[in-house]
Amino acid sequence: MIKLKKILCPVDFSACSTYALSYAIDLTTKERASLYLIHVIETHISDIRDIVKQIDLLLDDKQIDNLKVRLTNLIPDNIRPNIHIQPIVEKGVPFVEIIKTARYNHIDLIIMGTHGRTGLEHILIGSVAERVIRSAPCPVLSIRLPKQVFSMP
Ligand code: AMP
Repeated sequence: MIKLKKILCPVDFSACSTYALSYAIDLTTKERASLYLIHVIETHISDIRDIVKQIDLLLDDKQIDNLKVRLTNLIPDNIRPNIHIQPIVEKGVPFVEIIKTARYNHIDLIIMGTHGRTGLEHILIGSVAERVIRSAPCPVLSIRLPKQVFSMP
């Protein structure tokens, strides 16, 4: 029998990740599982403003605590006391940190949103969800916002 004890939901605070979180909360509650929430502070540096931003982040441990509180606060008040929530904040490349966290914590299922980019947008920006699906040590449920219409690549 498949038992989901640990569910990981990567959160970038976008609408699609918040939407996926509602699935993660629901399944966590039904399965009486633990909900791991991860936000990755991206350390990809593309220009000088990014470097300044990254230095600020390195110096600011308080920011990490604030992000953990922000993650926890995404869970509605009435549900928060009923499930075990583990907020995690890492620095690095999102898909790498998501996979590392899934491995380290023996996660049973990853639930994440995807913008569902196609065509040129997909080529230029890529997809975090796609990379996670390819290398994750467990099944991945990826969810698009319902209003997103598929456009042919
Ligand atoms: P995609 O649209 O395929 O690039 O995937 C977007 C999803 O990747 C979001 O819904 C999150 O689940 C995850 N994601 C992207 N960036 C981050 C980040 N910095 N921290 C945590 N999760 C992220």
